[in-house]
Amino acid sequence: MIILKNGTVVTGDGKTVLEKASVVIEGEKIIDVLEHLDPSAEKYAAEVYDCTGQAILPGMINHHQHGVTFGPMFASGAVSPGRERIVELLDRNLLQGHTTVMNVDGFVTMDEVKETQKAHPIRIKTATTHTPVNLEAGLRCDGAGLEEKHRTMTVEKMLEEGAVCIGEVGGGHTLGGGGQDYLYIPRAVKEVTGRDINYLQARAMKLSVLGRYMEESYYDRDRVAQALKENDLDSFLTPEQTREIVLKTTMAPVKVALEAYLESARLAKQLNVPLVAHNAPTSMKVVHEVARMGVQRFIAAHSNYLFTIEESLENTKKLRQYPGVIIDAAVHDPFGAKRLVAVPDNLFAFFREGLADIISTDFAAGTFDSMLEAMQHGVERGLLSLPQAVALGTKNVADAIPGIAPNLGLLQKGYTADVLVTAYPEVSQVKYILIGGRLVAKDGKRVA
Ligand SMILES: [Zn+2]
Repeated sequence: MIILKNGTVVTGDGKTVLEKASVVIEGEKIIDVLEHLDPSAEKYAAEVYDCTGQAILPGMINHHQHGVTFGPMFASGAVSPGRERIVELLDRNLLQGHTTVMNVDGFVTMDEVKETQKAHPIRIKTATTHTPVNLEAGLRCDGAGLEEKHRTMTVEKMLEEGAVCIGEVGGGHTLGGGGQDYLYIPRAVKEVTGRDINYLQARAMKLSVLGRYMEESYYDRDRVAQALKENDLDSFLTPEQTREIVLKTTMAPVKVALEAYLESARLAKQLNVPLVAHNAPTSMKVVHEVARMGVQRFIAAHSNYLFTIEESLENTKKLRQYPGVIIDAAVHDPFGAKRLVAVPDNLFAFFREGLADIISTDFAAGTFDSMLEAMQHGVERGLLSLPQAVALGTKNVADAIPGIAPNLGLLQKGYTADVLVTAYPEVSQVKYILIGGRLVAKDGKRVA
């Protein structure tokens, strides 16, 4: 028996906070959450953690992550960054307080998920995009990580073997999103000119050729020339080269990727499984089309991302009117690296207006900040309450995707003991992490 005693318990149900309460764990399970712990109980405990002045929370369920399984990466089916890097990303997730992580690189197979699970204590779940049109979109963009087994796998078989939803359909890479900026465009520029460019330069190239809505007809030579000059690219790139690179790396998969939304939505509806789809300006129209199709659980992923604040609020309010639509807001990296998202304004606007049903981190080129950090800052600014914030990353996620975290997401008698002890109110400072009643990390380090 383990007792976490005398902490501020946030149960995860969206409203309950118990002050100076204790969580009693036996084996894998929570056997009690008590406001008054009988002092004699302590002598039966193998371990007692004094949580005075600290918070006790359910482990976070991060339902949108890339690069957390030993398999092809992204909707583009890119080559895996390798085991060491994957374990690093799993560690980053775990130490941020995410006790469950869902892989949304949809071409991974179950044997790869199981192999990864052997290497790490975090709970790893997966989504699937093994359909013909998703495959075609991936191949047009990249596909270098796809072997025969990935190409011939089906959504049905993946679900049978343990995948919990369809997704991520139309990831950033196949839709001209962040992946183009930090990977595909720099790589193509290097091939053509031998020069290294950064993601901001790549983004400027992309936007100058296609505009924010990814339209081929947007091209204007003078505009591109101006952008090259402003971004110190004009000494080694011409507008014509830029156009060619951008069309090849960015535009080719977009059309097919949009078609994949409809194919995946039909399948999700038919099989009655949740669908996770990339929601960004490029896919805005098709996301609404899918919302109208009546998929039972349709998660509009990172609905705060890549839009202006006004756009994202307006778009989200419209989307929420359709039954079955679940709005995800992603954290990205506005508190730390700021590589992908410089400020958390869009996320905070979602908090303020109560528009997020669930939150996740998304990948942010591997520099994602924690769900807890977003919650903490949102609560500090008075945008939502701590119980509301915690539910966005625990119970609400477990409800949205029934297979992702069965018997998890709440601190309640009978639930599985994935539990965090954190500073209070600075909940992003995680002290202890328990998964299935076992201590797996302590003070920012994984326990062997
Ligand atoms: Zn995405």
